[in-house]
Amino acid sequence: MDHIIIRGVEVFAYHGVYAKEREEGQKFLIDADLECDTSKAANSDELEDSIDYGKVTQLISTFMIKNQVNLLETLANQLAVELLTTFTDCRNVTVEIRKPNAPIPVTFQDVAIKVTRGWHTAYIATGSNMGDREGNIENAILNLGADTKFKIIKTSNYYETKPYGEENQDNFLNGMVKLKTCCTPYELLDRLKVEERRAGRVKTSKWGPRPLDLDIIYYDDIIIDDENLTIPHGDMVRRDFVLQPLKDISPFHINPHNRLNTCEMLDRLTDRYIIQ
Ligand code: AMP
Repeated sequence: MDHIIIRGVEVFAYHGVYAKEREEGQKFLIDADLECDTSKAANSDELEDSIDYGKVTQLISTFMIKNQVNLLETLANQLAVELLTTFTDCRNVTVEIRKPNAPIPVTFQDVAIKVTRGWHTAYIATGSNMGDREGNIENAILNLGADTKFKIIKTSNYYETKPYGEENQDNFLNGMVKLKTCCTPYELLDRLKVEERRAGRVKTSKWGPRPLDLDIIYYDDIIIDDENLTIPHGDMVRRDFVLQPLKDISPFHINPHNRLNTCEMLDRLTDRYIIQ
């Protein structure tokens, strides 16, 4: 992939942990590296087919001035996301912000934070067995679609499903969404929890009734297994109500954990929850 690179944008701004930094301000130097395909512009020789680095520089400068934060970490993360969500043809953006005059009582060249943020593909399993089940799911998809950090790519059919784990409750409606996001896996998990709460979800038992359940099935080909997050989702291989809607939108997608595609995992299932 190609890179459009801007180095050393100089901005006087008011970020920092210390009152002096926030009141008197200081110089910041910003580098940005936008990973994108420049071949269309190279062939047409038209600026409109490329990312205008004048606009990128302007965005960086305005962003640095209009916001005020404590940490370079926060600033670099927010600026990278702002660039990604504005110049949506970029796959990845790397931002480095340097503070040559940071208030440190030793001689140094500068301090810097460098972050890379990019667009990732995630599959989200959706479920509901309380209230307006389809409405709850559709609302969440609409809310995510309206958020600049998300692009909805595909949605599956819905399936009427017997409850899993705890049988004495209403049937579920289940589906699957494929989307692009510039959230990290943990940011995505938090964002999905916001949607679950918005739909009226309160803490219940592990398998209890819920107006909305959103689970991360895949996030690129990443494998995570810790106390908060398991990707690919640990129970997906036992659930036809996950695999069937996944088959609707990605039948041959390979699970990076077991190297099986969706159809192969569905063929190996013995228990059935979808009501035909
Ligand atoms: P649930 O009851 O399905 O909403 O799951 C509750 C908890 O499961 C969440 O708070 C997460 O910390 C954890 N969890 C682990 N892996 C995943 C995943 N892939 N997607 C969503 N939640 C997950």
